Amino acid sequence: MDHCIFCQIINRKQPAKIVHEDELAVAIEDIHPQAPVHLLVMPRKHLPSLTEAEASDEPLLGHLFAVSAQLARERQLTTKGYRTVVNNGPWAGQTVSHLHVHVLG
Ligand code: AMP
Ligand code: ZN
Repeated sequence: MDHCIFCQIINRKQPAKIVHEDELAVAIEDIHPQAPVHLLVMPRKHLPSLTEAEASDEPLLGHLFAVSAQLARERQLTTKGYRTVVNNGPWAGQTVSHLHVHVLG
């Protein structure tokens, strides 16, 4: 997806603070943090939102949350707690149409 900002970040065509990378997912620091720790965990695959995910994407969806928990542990967020948020569609406040999990702690 040439015009997708998150695809551009994943393909290193736009700068970002990448905090995790593997074969399925990339995680970055949010450019406008809403909490002391605000990370975005996204699939390499361009899925506009959770709505477009298919049955075959189930392992990928699980992986996004596994990575989210791993990052939360690395950032020592687990004792006090943290939020994992997925906004889907305009009325939910989704502004970037590439599925991502917010990790807020
Ligand atoms: P959402 O509103 O759920 O679609 O979340 C999009 C998030 O992406 C917002 O929290 C933005 O601050 C963040 N964001 C947008 N562009 C960038 C970027 N280039 N680098 C890092 N975070 C971004
Ligand atoms: Zn994309």
